[in-house]
Amino acid sequence: MKTHRNIPFFVPHAGCPHCCVFCSQVKITGQRADKDIATESKELRELLENAGDPGGRQSRIAFFGGSFTAIERKRMETLLSIANEYIDKGVASGIRISTRPDCIDSEILKVLKYYRVTEIELGVQSTDDKVLSASERGHTAKDSFKAAELIKNQGFLLGGQMMVGLPGADPVSELQTAKDIVSMSCDEARIYPCVVFANTKLYDMTVAGEYKPLSTEEAVARSADCYCVFLNGKVNVLRVGLHSSESLAEAPFGATHPAIGELVYSKVYENLIAERIGTARGATAKVMFRSGDISMLTGNGGEALKRIKERTCVKEIELIPSDLDRFDIKVTVTNK
Ligand code: SF4
Repeated sequence: MKTHRNIPFFVPHAGCPHCCVFCSQVKITGQRADKDIATESKELRELLENAGDPGGRQSRIAFFGGSFTAIERKRMETLLSIANEYIDKGVASGIRISTRPDCIDSEILKVLKYYRVTEIELGVQSTDDKVLSASERGHTAKDSFKAAELIKNQGFLLGGQMMVGLPGADPVSELQTAKDIVSMSCDEARIYPCVVFANTKLYDMTVAGEYKPLSTEEAVARSADCYCVFLNGKVNVLRVGLHSSESLAEAPFGATHPAIGELVYSKVYENLIAERIGTARGATAKVMFRSGDISMLTGNGGEALKRIKERTCVKEIELIPSDLDRFDIKVTVTNK
């Protein structure tokens, strides 16, 4: 599926009327939240002046990190106006923003349309109200469905962000969240396994024994299951896990593995291939797959292949690199 290059500009925690238990936007983005408009505008201009590749790949100016539609209106329109100048200069062809479901209404969508915003990512996180409440999100699942409907009706491209391992969540509620994001007609999704940063309420809950952080194995297995829901629903998954950074490396608990996305992709391959083979004791399976993804099957000591053999009882797996797309596998099983 075609994706655009993002030119990311972080607006950390700006305008957000809440404080989710896991949130540490400054830590996640590595940026401070308390810039004035003049400084922020200058930084945005510098970023866009140096964005490179104008007129080349289709790019989006992407405002990430806070609840963009909840920031003070003058500040929001200043940032959007600057972005529009650079769209006119051919640096990008559209704008992507991320925000909370309860910060979307018809009026704000009109403003976004006026400023040529093309894509909106909603922080759905969960569609289980118990999980949303335990995470102190400050909105309900109904807000997400309503916002998604308004966004789609206005013709924006819609992204749904979900988290795995939130307080009160389990694999069942996470799978339901992924299914709900598909049912919202999201075009894209992101999956974030929960990371516990210092100086957050979730950190205190962890230390107090009120919250059990995800192990890497749990984060990978649960994220992979959600990924498969998106694959079946034809929703393009843009990313799994936070970008590797110093602050992620310093996070004391949770899904802190720097390559969690790769581990999840490997698990998705494992699940897809094992399902396609079924149980085939003593058989040989030939698997055609995207050549660039070979390390997802053979890396880490060939763990994925070993687990496929255990799950299916096949004797041999022959890997055939090809020009197929990621996760578009072809499997033939031969009983000798
Ligand atoms: S809505 Fe987003 S920015 Fe606001 S507190 Fe929650 S995670 Fe942080």
